[in-house]
Amino acid sequence: MERSTSRQSRKKVVAVVGGGLVGALNACFFAKRGFDVELFESREDIRRAKIVKGRSINLALSHRGRQALKYVGLEEKIVAKGIPMHARMIHSLNGKQSPIPYGRKGQYILSVDRANLNKELLTAAETYPNTKMNFDHKLQDWNAETGLMTFARLDGSKEQVKADLIVGCDGAFSAVRKQFLRRSRFDYSQTYIPHGYMELTMLPINGEFAMKPNYLHIWPRNTFMMIALPNLDKTFTCTLFMPFEDFEKITTGDEVIEFFQKYFPDTIPLIGADTLQRDYFRLPAQAMVSVKCNPYHIGDACVLMGDAAHAVVPFYGQGMNAGFEDCIVFDEIMDQFNEDFSAVLPEYTRVRVPDDHAIADLAMYNYIEMRAHVNSKWFLFRKYVDNI
Ligand code: FAD
Repeated sequence: MERSTSRQSRKKVVAVVGGGLVGALNACFFAKRGFDVELFESREDIRRAKIVKGRSINLALSHRGRQALKYVGLEEKIVAKGIPMHARMIHSLNGKQSPIPYGRKGQYILSVDRANLNKELLTAAETYPNTKMNFDHKLQDWNAETGLMTFARLDGSKEQVKADLIVGCDGAFSAVRKQFLRRSRFDYSQTYIPHGYMELTMLPINGEFAMKPNYLHIWPRNTFMMIALPNLDKTFTCTLFMPFEDFEKITTGDEVIEFFQKYFPDTIPLIGADTLQRDYFRLPAQAMVSVKCNPYHIGDACVLMGDAAHAVVPFYGQGMNAGFEDCIVFDEIMDQFNEDFSAVLPEYTRVRVPDDHAIADLAMYNYIEMRAHVNSKWFLFRKYVDNI
């Protein structure tokens, strides 16, 4: 079935593919400009779902992400539900804890709940009368010449929709990006790192946080590490980053405890031995991929943003933040070029690719910095000097 999206308006139709963090925010940016916005998301509406599957339970929101939220009037609402983290808290093997501030006094990043943030962004996008949400719409293919997209529905039916501009915000394994791969002079690289990640929950103890809440806790152990970010319900989400081959060596509950006893002894009483033994085997470790590409656009028809354009490894805590910043940069260029897509899209690629590639490189660098250098006396000294 083909459906026309053209409504009785002067404005062009913008299709945002992907209703994750960047897609939902982007829908707000385009709707605010008065475009007819159609958001297409393959999942059901997460605001009504019983279980929300995502890439991580919580994440760190920093300045560049907050700026983008401010543009669409959401900063205060999201910040109110975030937990400030003023410093990293380094846990040594002997249990000693040493804070390393993120910046000057009063500066901090925020731990926010991914699902809640995504829900708030979808609700914000929906408040614009010129936005239509289409859940259970999985993009299968699209045509760069005609702008015609084909979506698959859960019931097996197909729907075809046309738009003036397609904005690919459909994540690291973007279906929108597939068309780019078929074109000449499109640079693309994808790298899986040898590490995987696994999330473990640290419940409150006597109704209180089990550790100091206003920190991003790190247990650097050179070839692997664990981090923990606080949640509003006073739990911590601990994320163990480790080479897949090391995850696979641990096959029994006793081996889990032996491993934690050796490398993270202070966490056993906090997480609980039984919980550890159970949760370690709940889900397999997840892979992490870094994607770089160039250009981010095709003619005046399509543009990639967020992880679809630049999936980065999570060690710099900037994947979502950079994706949010994409929205601001695009919006500013729209002002400069009077919303003329044929001028805006190439300029966006020109301005944005170097910055996003730099973020990807910094994230790769921090992959080593966080688990190894952060452990060294030199690092602690340098951070100390940086912060006084
Ligand atoms: P996604 O969040 O992946 O959303 C893509 C959306 O598109 C999804 O809703 C998906 O269902 C939908 N979709 C996919 N395919 C289709 C299709 N064919 N048709 C329609 N819809 C489709 N970033 C930070 O800034 N700070 C952090 O602290 C941080 N921590 C992280 C921790 C971990 C363990 C990981 C893995 C990542 C972390 N990130 C962090 C990165 C962050 O998760 C991503 O950068 C962010 O989710 C990107 O948002 P996105 O909307 O571009 O993509």
